Amino acid sequence: MRMVDLIEKKRDGNILSKEEIIYIIENYVNKSIPDYQMSSLLMAIYFRGMTNDESSALTEAMLNSGETIDLSVIDGIKVDKHSTGGVGDKTTLVLGPLVAAAGAKVAKLSGRGLGHTGGTLDKLESIEGLSIDIEIEDFIAQVNKIGIAVAGQTAKITPADKLLYALRDVTATVPSIPLIASSIMSKKLASGSDVIVLDVKIGEGAFMKTIEEARELSHIMVNIGKSFGKKVVAFITDMSQPLGYAVGNRLEVKEAIETLQGNGPEDLTNLCIEISSYMVYSGGITKTLEEAKKLVKEKLNNNEAYDKQMELISAQGGFIENLDTFINVKEIIEVKSKESGFVKKIHALSIGIAAMKLGAGRETKEDPIDPDVGIVLKKKVGDKVNKGETLALIYNNKEKISHIIDDVFTAFVITTEKVDKKPIIFEIITE
Ligand code: URA
Repeated sequence: MRMVDLIEKKRDGNILSKEEIIYIIENYVNKSIPDYQMSSLLMAIYFRGMTNDESSALTEAMLNSGETIDLSVIDGIKVDKHSTGGVGDKTTLVLGPLVAAAGAKVAKLSGRGLGHTGGTLDKLESIEGLSIDIEIEDFIAQVNKIGIAVAGQTAKITPADKLLYALRDVTATVPSIPLIASSIMSKKLASGSDVIVLDVKIGEGAFMKTIEEARELSHIMVNIGKSFGKKVVAFITDMSQPLGYAVGNRLEVKEAIETLQGNGPEDLTNLCIEISSYMVYSGGITKTLEEAKKLVKEKLNNNEAYDKQMELISAQGGFIENLDTFINVKEIIEVKSKESGFVKKIHALSIGIAAMKLGAGRETKEDPIDPDVGIVLKKKVGDKVNKGETLALIYNNKEKISHIIDDVFTAFVITTEKVDKKPIIFEIITE
């Protein structure tokens, strides 16, 4: 086989065989295929797409490029959840403990944030003492003991995805549906859970911009999962504005804790209840989805989910002495409205980028993170606002941030007409 022939085949819109896909991935990982040929193939895939069979074969080849985690030593059905990423997305910090409190087993491997989307690991690591570098034996023991563990993905899992993702990032080939589907599913399958719930976000703060794209990605991922014998469900959810109010690592941890104390934002709380119910039901804890929802709400209301969150934090070495003194910044800047009306839009991408510029996220992988900084929205889409009222608070530790303040201000679009609130969940895809 010659890589140049395979590039030509895909360039002309033909279908690659499973053997050809295995050849490509194996030889790219062992460095026999150079980046320039792989880049060319990625661009051909970007324009020509892939069939479901090609996407499954690519997922399998990437999965087999590294180690997989065997969770069979954990009793019961293991459930996992993955979000395609967004601004203010702290759902794992809420629904992980919620699902574990309801009795399902959550063995979660998470990633770091890059660009305008934050990663669960950075949020967890903003808690003093908390470690996400857990040996696999300790990870499994913790899930068996308290029902939940969250660790960082090791370099040994799906090395092909790490190489390919870095190349896609610099060759403008990230937004390809089959490439995103195989990247996500190879990692999820390598993590070993029986049930995978996907949160596919749409809107300007997300990879998928339209419901059609999100549907296509969801169907492909659900099909890939099923071809590996897993139960997979995809939720298509809103990311046209940030999720909840808080954007920034400690700010999001605080909001997640408050949500489990029953004082969370409505959109975040509802999303977590819905996704958790599916995880609990698919994890075989209840016979029906309705019973699962009832159980999840009970665990939220009786504080057991909050207790589980504290147990998780302490099991991984973390410590929060006092939520009121958890966040420490040089200054908190109020961004005020210059007009009265209703919030029509909050550009999620602008808020995500502004938070990143404050130091809450990374522009490059090497950038350090400031755990305390970020943005807290005071208004959401549909809210009424008066002239002079605060739209957002900027938690800042930097000098000269007038451009960031402007960006946060212009992220809000105010109109004089009443604006309806959008639902947080658009569709649930099961096949
Ligand atoms: N998240 C991933 O893990 N991979 C992609 O390709 C896109 C989002």
